[in-house]
Amino acid sequence: MESILVLTHADEIGAALSKGSLEAVTAGLEMATRIGAPLSLGVVAGKIENLSNSLPSGVARVLAVSGEAFAQPRYASDAASCEAICRAANATIILAPQSSRFARVMGGVAQRLGGLIDTHITAIGGSDFVEVSRWFYRQRVEAVLKREARPWLLLLDSGTHAAYSGEMGSIKTEQIPVELPAMRTTVTGQKAPKQDEQTIRPDAKLLFVAGAGWTKKQPDGQVHADEARGLILKFLRASGASLGSSKSLVDQGGDGSSVLPFLTHLNQVGQTGSTPRHAKGLSTCCHGEEPHAVGWRFIGERRAISLDPNCGWTRGKADVVYVADAFKVMAKVNEMLAKKG
Ligand SMILES: Cc1cc2nc3c(=O)[nH]c(=O)nc-3n(C[C@H](O)[C@H](O)[C@H](O)COP(=O)(O)OP(=O)(O)OC[C@H]3O[C@@H](n4cnc5c(N)ncnc54)[C@H](O)[C@@H]3O)c2cc1C
Repeated sequence: MESILVLTHADEIGAALSKGSLEAVTAGLEMATRIGAPLSLGVVAGKIENLSNSLPSGVARVLAVSGEAFAQPRYASDAASCEAICRAANATIILAPQSSRFARVMGGVAQRLGGLIDTHITAIGGSDFVEVSRWFYRQRVEAVLKREARPWLLLLDSGTHAAYSGEMGSIKTEQIPVELPAMRTTVTGQKAPKQDEQTIRPDAKLLFVAGAGWTKKQPDGQVHADEARGLILKFLRASGASLGSSKSLVDQGGDGSSVLPFLTHLNQVGQTGSTPRHAKGLSTCCHGEEPHAVGWRFIGERRAISLDPNCGWTRGKADVVYVADAFKVMAKVNEMLAKKG
């Protein structure tokens, strides 16, 4: 019989489980109900006391590794803590979020346990046998995998399950002892761009895509790059949207004429870019050609603003297309957001 462990970690401030962890909890609870298997929760955190009132109810056991050494991500301590929890739980299926913290250690943990790992899992199904789905070949081919090897570690892509929002409670936790190896890495702090400089926001509800049209000559015969930059930044700050781009626009950065200095190839959405997951997407000044629109596969509701009534978006790639001037529309949207506060 299977037994399931959901491995989780605290968020950056250590006050709750990370969002990805709560998504893994949802996946674990669904799976436990479907296959009728017991479910344990593993937690890696600096201070487990800080989380004790915010752990999901409905799990058989909570196994925790906590202490100063586990407050920050670090390969040696994270791999040791995850290995210790997995051994104590003795689970056959181990679910964990595909967070940057866990993605880099779980391959090593699987190796230490003599198990196997599959990453980027987007769905879990099956009742007699557990089946998991992941996408290959730049999200074009979806595969359903089964394995007999156990333990089987599964890293879940973020945004594929709703974050657990059920009952939370003060649950008795079992402290799992960990023997730490000699550690060469000391975590002295974290350096990250300020929130409003960070334009790629995987947790945002909205993806805002900027296309090359922002840099093109407008009906008055002029380029309005400064205005474009101002409108886009203002919208990103007010809405908290994640910034995506077409290839044509990011490629201009390489030629030294970037309209958005903070735009890099990491923002590029599409066949040779990323395939982000957001509830909604708004494309602006972008033609919506297939190599770009293919990156919108996991965007729930798609809208576009384009001057061209024959653009790709109007040919079935978007739910709603505004054939309009994006400069005017976004100025109006910003005005409305400012009034809303
Ligand atoms: C192998 C391959 C891989 C590729 N991979 C990718 C990829 O990963 N991602 C990607 O994006 N592209 C990719 N491309 C390129 C893709 O085919 C397109 O060339 C690119 O997406 C076009 O970018 P764009 O729509 O921003 O620019 P354009 O085609 O120049 O379109 C600009 C649009 O802006 C509109 N516009 C201008 N001014 C305004 C205004 N004021 N208001 C509203 N609309 C306005 C215009 O009408 C036009 O429709 C790839 C191509 C190939 C061959």
